Order: sequence, then structure tokens, then C-alpha cells
Amino acid sequence: MQGLVRWPLCLAFLAAVLGASSAQAGKAHEHGVGRMNLVQDGANWAVDLELPLDTLVGFERPPRTPAERQAAQAALARLRDPQALIRLEVPAPLSCTTAAVEVHAPVLEGQAAAPGGHADARVSITLQCPDSVEPQRVELQAFTTFNRLKRLEVQAALKAGQRQFKLTPANRVIHLRRP
Ligand SMILES: [Zn+2]
Repeated sequence: MQGLVRWPLCLAFLAAVLGASSAQAGKAHEHGVGRMNLVQDGANWAVDLELPLDTLVGFERPPRTPAERQAAQAALARLRDPQALIRLEVPAPLSCTTAAVEVHAPVLEGQAAAPGGHADARVSITLQCPDSVEPQRVELQAFTTFNRLKRLEVQAALKAGQRQFKLTPANRVIHLRRP
């Protein structure tokens, strides 16, 4: 339980990092490119993903047709399923479990997009891994789930320190420990 006490701090840090970037809202994202913050706090992990709606559904405004509404609902369902996005791998039979998922994608849910014509979906996931072992790999299933995703810029605050990664469909794994 000790690790959990520090969660609010950790999440505040994430909010600050993402808030700073979102504040430059005028700056358009690049379609096909997502951003992720990954923060390790002992056995707890916080994942924050920001993905252009274009990458998820092919449009960045509220859905208009039944087909678009269906695409939006399907995308929301995938965003709410952490296993469709990311996997922290620990030796079997142990596993990391999802403590919380929060999806923020108001435009997909029908709200008007902000002026400028671009819109993102944001997903915050908190995971709890076993105390006894460190995850060895982080695999981004998001590349399979959303095949328009071509690159993910990752800022990681790991036990080993601050790291940056550029992940692609062909290189979707972060190795945390050398074999
Ligand atoms: Zn866009």
C-alpha cells in the first residue's frame, strides 16, 4: 500500500507534463504520431497516451453518419481496454493488473472540436505490477489495435532514470532489462 500513497504526486506530475504540451494547442499534432508518458513508481506504473483522432477513426470532428458513430464507439471501446494498448510483461504466472483507466475523447463522444480542426484522444492507465519482480518488457499493442499509428514518442521516467523512445509498428517493445 505504501506505493499507492505516492500516486497523487505521480499523477500530478503527469498532468503537468501533458498540460504543458496541450497548452500549445495551436500547434497541430502529426497524424499517425502519438505521444506517451510512462512513469514507474515502485511497482506502480502510470501510462498516459495521446493519440490523434485521425489515427483512431480517420476524422477529427464529431461523428456524423451511422458508420462514423459506429467507428467512434469501436475506438472508444478499444481505448478503454488497456490490453488493447499496452502490456507490461513480468515472468508468468505473475502479471500486472489494471488499477484504473480513464479515457478523455470528447469529440468522439459528440462534442464539437476546438477551433483549429485537430483533436486528440487521451488515455490514462494505472497499472500495478507484482512487488517481487520488475517488468522486463513493455509492448505497445496499440500499433496492432490502431494500424494507422506509425510512431509513438515516449517519455519515460523509470527506476533507471529518464529515457526517451521512438516506437514504430516494427519496433514496438521497450526492453527494460537486458537478458
Ligand atoms: Zn489532426
